[in-house]
Amino acid sequence: MNGSTRSLSSSLVVVTFLGIILVLFPLGAQGFAQSEDDQRAWLRALDSLSSERMLADVTTLSSPAFNGRQAGSEDDFRSAAWVSDEFGASRISLAFVPYDRFNIPLGGKPNRRTGFMSKPHQAGIIGPEPTLQFSTARTPDNQRLGTDFLPVLDSPSAHARAPIVFVGYGIVDTAADMDDYAGIDVNNCIVLFLRGKPDHFKGTITHADKVRIARQKGAVGYLTATGPVLSSYELRRGVTGQPSAFYGLSPAPDNLPGAWISTSRAEQIIAGADHSNQGHLRNLQDQLNRASESRSFSTEYFGALDWESRQEQGALINVIAVLPGTDPQLTQEAIVIGAHRDHFGRQAGLLFPGADDNASGTAVMLEVARVLAEAGAHPGRTILFISFSGEEQGLAGSRLYLERPLVPTTMTRTMINIDHAGVGNGRLTVGVTGLEKNVALEAGQTAGCTDKLDVFGFFPGGDHVPFKEAGVPTITVVSGGVHPHFHQPTDTADTINPEILQTVARYVLALAWQLANVQ
Ligand SMILES: [Zn+2]
Repeated sequence: MNGSTRSLSSSLVVVTFLGIILVLFPLGAQGFAQSEDDQRAWLRALDSLSSERMLADVTTLSSPAFNGRQAGSEDDFRSAAWVSDEFGASRISLAFVPYDRFNIPLGGKPNRRTGFMSKPHQAGIIGPEPTLQFSTARTPDNQRLGTDFLPVLDSPSAHARAPIVFVGYGIVDTAADMDDYAGIDVNNCIVLFLRGKPDHFKGTITHADKVRIARQKGAVGYLTATGPVLSSYELRRGVTGQPSAFYGLSPAPDNLPGAWISTSRAEQIIAGADHSNQGHLRNLQDQLNRASESRSFSTEYFGALDWESRQEQGALINVIAVLPGTDPQLTQEAIVIGAHRDHFGRQAGLLFPGADDNASGTAVMLEVARVLAEAGAHPGRTILFISFSGEEQGLAGSRLYLERPLVPTTMTRTMINIDHAGVGNGRLTVGVTGLEKNVALEAGQTAGCTDKLDVFGFFPGGDHVPFKEAGVPTITVVSGGVHPHFHQPTDTADTINPEILQTVARYVLALAWQLANVQ
């Protein structure tokens, strides 16, 4: 018996069980559909979720045809059109977004409705074959792309040769009595700083802040690495020392060429040319984690960073579909089901397919829309389905939506975000803000997966964050356990587990139906 057959038969058991429960105990004010027809339609929807269809969608979106769906690129434009077509094919209405360039009628002729909400967007691309070399008086050492280093994706072109200076976490905050640059000159140097911050530092610091500080201090480039001492959260998330793709989000005037290097390469630099000081980086990080005193020093290494990068002008596109609410008392209100579609594209000559991140969440969102529409289910509140772009570039798509929400945020009861829904240990990590955790657990009962839920409070990072900031309650759904291909070129469709997609989809559908109908 394969996974999907097994989950299908278990879903039948749950559906039958639910049917009995609902006949015996109509949920009324607690919750679900208003009419028996709607209730039956919803159960049909739950039963018709197809892991095969979701896996096929993940495979399509993460195929080379979409070239990694980088926000602002032609590839992401095509992926937006594909999502729009999929919504259209499933008889769900595409939203009309007023004043959007893709929706404004031109020359008196209305365009075909696309559901697009867009704005101009610039995409940074690292050219092929970037190089990074470390050298001491004795040993020039070429680093391997992807394994030892990866340029930060919005890094400017790099042609830097300079001594490497270790600057701890790279933080300067006089109010917090913290100065990782105290007593050290980094002018015309390449700085090496650890990612994150020590627990005792209560201020906020972003990667872009660290780059700005390095530039102000006269650095000509930077290297960054995960320190060897990991927090329990990082361990749980399966954080490794490998370099990952990411955008530093430094504004152009503050930016510097930079690369993420592996923890082992950072350890090598800190250990010294004769490798005499093995374990020194771990000791330094332990000391930095205990007290704010600077541990910075000039290493024995030189670095050479060489690559070309370019900026391309395009459009950032969200795609929005609508399942209208039918309860006269609730139709002004909406819930949002969102998943980001964008990923990193092709960078440094490497394709980042983004199957788990986040073709998986996109496939789940499409499938939930599809089964609700095809079953003829009528939710009390309107359900908006939003395929966001630009998540990997500072949550640009969800921020765009909140600049022009189709339903006012005060009338948006909850935003459900699905991100990374395809790999892991079979459990679901659920982050809840602005709602009782019981809401998340109740949906687990309906979906038959309560024993698989790990419910937390705020889950950091993702398109739910701007909604939370706008005062909208949020529920984030991520497949539990380690995501070993996180932000790597190896995040491909063959690593996706369809049974996990099915569990996430059942849960999201139950959650959405509950939230769309609860009084
Ligand atoms: Zn990502």
